[in-house]
Amino acid sequence: MNQNKQMAELLFPNVTLTIKDLEERFPRRKEGTVVTRFAPSPTGFLHIGGVYTALMNAKLAHQAGGVFMLRIEDTDKKREVANSKGIICNVFNRLGVTIDEGVISETEQRGEYGSYIQSERIDIYHTVAKHLVETGYAYPCFCSEEELNEIRAKQEELHVAPGYYREYAKYRNVSYEEAKEKLAEKGSFVLRFRVPDEINERVGVTDLIKGYIEMENNINDFVLLKENGIPTYHFAHCCDDHFMGTTIVMRGDEWVASLPIHVQLFTSCGFTLPSYAHVAPVMKLDGESRRKLSKRKDPESNAEFYLEEGYPIKALYVYLYTLINSNFEEWYLANKDRDLDEFEMTFDAMSISGALYDITKLNNISSEIIYTTSVLDNVNNQLAWAKEFDLDLYNRLTSDLEFTKRLFATQGPDSSEHRKDLNCYKDFLHVFGSLYADIFELNNDAYAELIEENLPKEYRSEIVEAFITYFTEREAGSEKTLKDLSKELGYTDKKKYAKNPELYRGVITQFYKGLRLLLTHQEHGIAMDDIISVLGYEEVIRRLKLEL
Ligand code: GLU
Repeated sequence: MNQNKQMAELLFPNVTLTIKDLEERFPRRKEGTVVTRFAPSPTGFLHIGGVYTALMNAKLAHQAGGVFMLRIEDTDKKREVANSKGIICNVFNRLGVTIDEGVISETEQRGEYGSYIQSERIDIYHTVAKHLVETGYAYPCFCSEEELNEIRAKQEELHVAPGYYREYAKYRNVSYEEAKEKLAEKGSFVLRFRVPDEINERVGVTDLIKGYIEMENNINDFVLLKENGIPTYHFAHCCDDHFMGTTIVMRGDEWVASLPIHVQLFTSCGFTLPSYAHVAPVMKLDGESRRKLSKRKDPESNAEFYLEEGYPIKALYVYLYTLINSNFEEWYLANKDRDLDEFEMTFDAMSISGALYDITKLNNISSEIIYTTSVLDNVNNQLAWAKEFDLDLYNRLTSDLEFTKRLFATQGPDSSEHRKDLNCYKDFLHVFGSLYADIFELNNDAYAELIEENLPKEYRSEIVEAFITYFTEREAGSEKTLKDLSKELGYTDKKKYAKNPELYRGVITQFYKGLRLLLTHQEHGIAMDDIISVLGYEEVIRRLKLEL
């Protein structure tokens, strides 16, 4: 047995599988199949930037009839949060993203290339690791923390680059005998990659988004397996994406700097390098400067936020696709009735520098979508949202579904004022709350001041009485309009009022706002005619009388 083989046996005595066995267990996929994956860590939080990257991956695979996988990268057990898989899968489920393979719920997986959870793939990593030791591409390192510090100190003194490389790589040439002794003494080892003596100074990769990237090659004998036998990201990425047959590795661009390591790994393992597409992070304007959307500072960085707010799923897609592909918006505006799946996503229309996240834009898209959604669909969406996030509201909505429908009928292209008051379904009570008697009763802090501004105390009763008479006569068939009434009561338009204020009681907007305040206690809201018809004669009169 040669030294490398002996070493491999020493380090991995229990590994009996070979690379060939793994190639048989995970057969090659059909030539030309596009395979992408999203590979989050289970930290209990799915960043909207992650959803953005996942949608790109899913879309690229699906538009080519390929496979989209969800892999869980749980090698850092310290950061793991219970039920993360459930949270992540729930978001994708709700978005309607098909996970063709991989983790599909907290407890389930599908697909032939699993497990799709890294902590369940240790046998695979160790098989490849053993192979790398046998072929001379990996070796055990027994350095203690102090020894590593000593190396660093020496490098500082000599003003050379820090790291574990060449003559500073203490165990790079460790012999079988020495390794055996050290292992007996220490009981564990770190497995390092042995960077070949002869490597090019620079390495280049053509990134599907960023184009050709050239950089200095890696000289560090980086870690493959940590002391506990768990792989580093780099090693797991190489093993997983090879055996799972990933053809496009699309991931955050914080990994660009690791490309030289990944090229070395794939090459030394004898694996074909996948195509890479590095995605710049989603940014936010903070004053004048751009920064990453922050988990701590920005609630909108959490994917679950959008479910909790009740944004229509389509709005999220439209918005994220707009960020992903610069030509999407134009396509969407020209093809509003077509399925979003029909849009062809392309790499050359992806942002190199990082898309700018702007929730106002999402709100515009979303309010437009709610606006064009039918009353019935809106009611159903509202019910589904309330059932999940606000049971009191759900009970309120279902206890008088006809009323709920009447409320939604005040929105949309068929409504009297074409209003788009809802950005998301969480806005429901904000928009319609005051039309419910109990919420109306709660009043509004600003009300006293507002009513005084628009209907001063001195003549308020007179106006309210006039309103009561007006609505009662209308109920009896009178055709008089509010505008007629306003004139009778001495209101006029701004111009006329400005010229001769002594001739009038006030401006017509005060008259309408006064009525709105009397009926809803709110300054803004749905169309006046809708308020009146939704409330009905009796409730209108009841509300008006409260002011007498
Ligand atoms: N688990 C890695 C991360 O969270 C995934 C990177 C990749 O997609 O390869 O950044």
